Amino acid sequence: MSTIFSKIIAREIPADIVYEDDLVLAFRDIAPQAPVHVLIIPKKEIATVNDISIADEAALGRLFTVAAKIASDEGIAESGYRLIVNCNEDGGQEVFHLHMHILGGRRLGPMLAKR
Ligand code: 5GP
Repeated sequence: MSTIFSKIIAREIPADIVYEDDLVLAFRDIAPQAPVHVLIIPKKEIATVNDISIADEAALGRLFTVAAKIASDEGIAESGYRLIVNCNEDGGQEVFHLHMHILGGRRLGPMLAKR
């Protein structure tokens, strides 16, 4: 099932794209939760972490190398940042095209909201 992120890859809807290569695309989140909030996605449609296969390791490794580059480009590498990948309902996943959030530019606080 394609999602809105496939439309961003295909340039069918606009996005503020900050990086692209053969395997991944990165763009600013439409509803940023921190001064820097970028999403990095594999170009291949992978719904969730549960759907990853060994063949995807190159693209998934690329998510991390690109995250580090974007953190540097955005000036948050030294101050710090958080990488998040949500999976399914309890993880809070809303878009079922696997993506990594990069959040930074302010003190992010505890990793999880208190119950
Ligand atoms: P999730 O909860 O699935 O981990 O995160 C999905 C993220 O995608 C949310 O932070 C949401 O704001 C972002 N998002 C949803 N639709 C769009 C869109 O059309 N464009 C952009 N740039 N971000 C989106």
